[in-house]
Amino acid sequence: MSDPVKIRSIGVIGAGQMGNGIAHVCALAGYDVVLNDIDQDRLDEAIKTIDGNLARQAARKRISEADHAEALARIKPSLDLGEVGHTNLVIEAATEDEALKKKIFQGLTEHLKEDTLIASNTSSISITRLASVTDRPERFMGMHFMNPVPMMQLVELIRGIATEDVTFSAVREVVVKLGKTPTAAEDFPAFIVNRILLPMINEAVYTLYEGVGSVDAIDTAMRLGANHPMGPLELADFIGLDTCLAVMQVLYDGLADTKYRPCPLLVKYVEAGWLGRKVNRGFYDYRGDAPVPTR
Ligand code: NAD
Repeated sequence: MSDPVKIRSIGVIGAGQMGNGIAHVCALAGYDVVLNDIDQDRLDEAIKTIDGNLARQAARKRISEADHAEALARIKPSLDLGEVGHTNLVIEAATEDEALKKKIFQGLTEHLKEDTLIASNTSSISITRLASVTDRPERFMGMHFMNPVPMMQLVELIRGIATEDVTFSAVREVVVKLGKTPTAAEDFPAFIVNRILLPMINEAVYTLYEGVGSVDAIDTAMRLGANHPMGPLELADFIGLDTCLAVMQVLYDGLADTKYRPCPLLVKYVEAGWLGRKVNRGFYDYRGDAPVPTR
């Protein structure tokens, strides 16, 4: 068994909506963070978002102005994957695409220190399969944050078949230091939260596709009829329709059951590039003052 590693610095790969949230909470908890992306615009946007979100927390007196400034100063944006290699724990939060993630891990390992741990924030892909392309499956696991990261309490922790207990404990300790609650899930497609949540969202899209209700009727029904804080289509826009589709595809392929078939209307929205809030259009159009349903 490997020796426990003391985690002081964290690398985050992917500066999208999850990556910027993960960098935010890690920096606020005192970790030095290297935030990596292949796109300079995404890095600039991420730093702007983190700054704005920290400012909001300071305005609400949840953190001090000094916490805001110190956390921001701890985050180093970088286009160079090599810089991520100097950290003790690398959290991968790039696009939900297995081939892309595997390519990242293959390119990453040569830069890593021997005892660096790797975690993937994947919503659905097999941790064991992702780990298998690295040189350290025993130091690799799933660390599934929820969106928006600074607000959501849960982090699902997933062991791959080779994950060692010391790796699991070290990552669990980080989650606790972030002030969040860990829960353990086995390495099956989409783990716990998305195994349950995404089929519900997919069913909401089928309900729309079959004309059972409009976008507004479906979301109102689930908000007021099931007491959900957000309607399923609004939630799908929030998650990102490309991510929703990718998770359904993993469930469909991984469990080989037609009940997980992605709704053709979800596929169509993704093909149109209407990916939800992150591009200002999905089941709702966000370009005006108030969201307008698209169907
Ligand atoms: P996103 O589209 O907002 O961000 C993805 C980022 O990855 C982009 O900035 C992109 O430029 C970057 N990227 C792509 N290829 C890269 C590479 N080779 N190297 C470095 N960066 C690269 O997506 P997101 O919603 O932040 O999702 C990221 C991951 O988090 C996915 O695995 C997703 O399943 C998971 N996740 C998403 C949610 C959610 O609600 N959106 C929740 C939990 C987990």
